[in-house]
Amino acid sequence: MVVRCRVCGRTVDVAAWSREHEILKKASDDPAFVCDACQERIRAEAKKDLPT
Ligand SMILES: [Zn+2]
Repeated sequence: MVVRCRVCGRTVDVAAWSREHEILKKASDDPAFVCDACQERIRAEAKKDLPT
């Protein structure tokens, strides 16, 4: 199953037995897939925005 990352537009081949595939199957209406690299970046930016 090939999905496209919402953030960078990169296509990722999600294996049928993976956890991601299960999640995407359940959210078939709107599979908001974000690749690992973008998830990392989003996490880093969220951390940065926290008030110190
Ligand atoms: Zn991405």
